[in-house]
Amino acid sequence: MGTACTYCGSDVERHDPVSVTEGDDDSADRAGRFCNYACLAAYIEDEGLATGAVCEWTP
Ligand SMILES: [Zn+2]
Repeated sequence: MGTACTYCGSDVERHDPVSVTEGDDDSADRAGRFCNYACLAAYIEDEGLATGAVCEWTP
């Protein structure tokens, strides 16, 4: 089994997974894994992370 998308629960490895970390440190805890940028964007909106938070993602 692959890793479930943090937002929609689909297997991210069936798509083009996007990993997100919070803060400047690459080794920081993963904020989430998403099957695509649409899920990432939706998650950020739902969680209100779009304002004030620093988000970095590694395609
Ligand atoms: Zn998803």
